[in-house]
Amino acid sequence: AVLFDHQAIRDQFPALKQTIGDYPLCYLDTAATSQKPQAVIDAMTEYYQLNNANVHRAAHQLSARATQQYEAVRQQVAEFINAQRQDEIIFTHGTTESINMVAYGLTSQLKPNDVILVDTAAHHANIVPWQELAKRTGAVITPIPLTADAQLDMAAFDRLLTLKPKMVAICHVSNALGTVNCVEELVAKAKAVGALTLVDGAQAIAHLSVDVQKIDCDFYVFSGHKMYGPTGVGILYGRYQQLDQLTPMLTGGEMIKTVSFAYTEYGALPNRLEAGTPAIAEVIGLGAAIRFLQQLPREPLWVHEQQLIQYLQQQLQQLGDIELYGIANDKNATNIAAVAFNIKGEHHQDVGILLDQQAIAVRCGHHCAMPLMASLNLGGCCRASIGIYTNKQDVDQFIHALNAVKELLL
Ligand code: PMP
Repeated sequence: AVLFDHQAIRDQFPALKQTIGDYPLCYLDTAATSQKPQAVIDAMTEYYQLNNANVHRAAHQLSARATQQYEAVRQQVAEFINAQRQDEIIFTHGTTESINMVAYGLTSQLKPNDVILVDTAAHHANIVPWQELAKRTGAVITPIPLTADAQLDMAAFDRLLTLKPKMVAICHVSNALGTVNCVEELVAKAKAVGALTLVDGAQAIAHLSVDVQKIDCDFYVFSGHKMYGPTGVGILYGRYQQLDQLTPMLTGGEMIKTVSFAYTEYGALPNRLEAGTPAIAEVIGLGAAIRFLQQLPREPLWVHEQQLIQYLQQQLQQLGDIELYGIANDKNATNIAAVAFNIKGEHHQDVGILLDQQAIAVRCGHHCAMPLMASLNLGGCCRASIGIYTNKQDVDQFIHALNAVKELLL
């Protein structure tokens, strides 16, 4: 039974009110980027209309207001993920930049043959920066394999830990499959052998309650645009001591204490890792997204999302001639917010184009996870992903459209 007015929540997302051709837009691509509620759009507009100024720089009123709003979001994010201190929150431009900053920042801490363990299900953003770090330092990357049902292989992970890795980089939720890692257990095991840990939370932050102290990771990263906030802003959370040891990837204004041509001294966290003018409007928009989420009934909404995903999986199975990926053998395991599939024997791209003709927005391709696709022996697949605004009509419209595509192709 639904204990809240779901339609009232959905109504706050203006983009979802449109039709495409003769069909209502059926947006099932939230894992790529979520739609934005009016409150986020308004907060950014208000900043540009009334408070536009650079932060931290000037004595004037507008700059004071912009700085106050910008820094207030740091506090909001710290509370949202339960960080111990607000200077453990670094504003970046997205998950990709956050991971690059960590991988670059560790350059002086790694030696030849140091091992970096990377989740096979990782997004390319959580693979390529480590490859570049390996190139710079002579470290080696070892993938953590998956089991036959596409879950992280715990036994293999335990064996790999005997290599005494320096870094373990995993995803919280896989963007391609919606599979979930038990991050607390993985981090605890990694820490026990002295490894640093980075958890990519890009696909988790909008769908699970994230507590970085409970997870106990050294770094946790995510993007604003996947949690109903704007593009162009992301978060790098780091344990203070670890953040403080990162070599800044970007240097310049704002991040220094003193500069002379003879010697430059860097400033303290968080400024040390925030060189240049930040994405001020976007940070303020992210603050509005967090406020928006916090005033919603989050627990019932997660239940709603879970029920929709189960319904989606059931409907796909009933349709026939559909292959689903990333479904755990363990009946207690649930996929978060995304379902990956193909029509048997058909190319994912053809399916995506035909669905689009019926106003269904899904993502088709390798989902920036080519090693994962290779491990599943797939050239690619389709992914339907949901958010708090998705409703049963969306799933029904999608299944109806997919059935039409199936009849056309098979
Ligand atoms: N990691 C995961 C798991 C993702 O889903 C994404 C976005 N698809 C990224 C990293 C990269 O995020 P961004 O493009 O916002 O930097």
